[in-house]
Amino acid sequence: MKILIVGGAGYIGSHMVKSLLAAGHEIVVADNFSTGYRDALVGGQLAELDIANAAALDTLFNTQRIDVVFHFASYIQVGESVNEPGKYYANNLAATLTLLQAMERAGVRRFIFSSTAAVYGDPNYVPIDEAHPKAPINPYGRSKWMVEQILEDFDRAYGLKSVCLRYFNAAGADPDQQLGERHEPETHLIPLILQAASGRRSAITVFGRDYDTPDGTCIRDYVHVADLVAAHALALDYLQAGGASKAFNLGNGQGFSVQQVIDTARQVTGKTINVVDAPRRAGDPPRLVADAGLAHKVLGWQPQFASLDRIVGDAWAWELKHPWH
Ligand code: UDP
Repeated sequence: MKILIVGGAGYIGSHMVKSLLAAGHEIVVADNFSTGYRDALVGGQLAELDIANAAALDTLFNTQRIDVVFHFASYIQVGESVNEPGKYYANNLAATLTLLQAMERAGVRRFIFSSTAAVYGDPNYVPIDEAHPKAPINPYGRSKWMVEQILEDFDRAYGLKSVCLRYFNAAGADPDQQLGERHEPETHLIPLILQAASGRRSAITVFGRDYDTPDGTCIRDYVHVADLVAAHALALDYLQAGGASKAFNLGNGQGFSVQQVIDTARQVTGKTINVVDAPRRAGDPPRLVADAGLAHKVLGWQPQFASLDRIVGDAWAWELKHPWH
């Protein structure tokens, strides 16, 4: 198949490109390199464009016969989305709509979308299943939920079939260590802890020890990037087999506290990791854990790298291999 990967130079997108190339697909990457890296592209054709540019998209779809689009190109910082909502709605919502309209004009009717656990907001119960009310508490989560709703309407009106994959906490790195997580600035817990372990940072800051959890720190469900990528490949099979538009949670169903992640990183790295305590970060729910039963049942997804040791270990190998990032 010929697959367009939007945001293929980013963290999860670059791992996806590598995996789909290995599976023998023809890959076109669309990226504007606003947050991605040219050297994260391991192959495929590059279309350097911004998906806000409808004319550039039309040219792309008119010159390439694309079968399916994977969309990874979003801004992802919750705090920034609160302070700069326009930036989030412009890219994550409006530009995505421009992409969907260009697909419609070109008759491309398969779409796999990176969504997020942030669509649920502060959970009423955990583990969270897909039926949980959608009540996002920040512009980032709202922009993703709005796209999910647009996709329902596009299916009804145009027959666009989509899979929305609601990631919990994406983490880890390519088991071959060719690719890994590189955000600038980095805001995610595991890479920040490992930067403290390698000496690139003096300490990890823990945002809040007064949550209603066993050790007082927030609990999250960390899922390996290689397992996320595997779920996307299964979503592609599902759509190709005529599956209906659907949303799936992707997580391991196991929660780890911030303190447990730090303790695991100390064991895995054997390094001293200094900790500084700070107040809660705005908008952090105390506990986010996935019920991914639907993805297991319908997609046949079985995470292969579910242990936190493995997730942290692969991220650590990447941190050591690429200390300049
Ligand atoms: N966190 C932290 N210190 C940091 C970064 C994150 O204590 O420097 C906490 C954060 O408050 C949350 C958890 O780690 O409870 C995971 O945060 P991350 O930003 O990695 O992902 P999120 O859950 O926001 O998607």
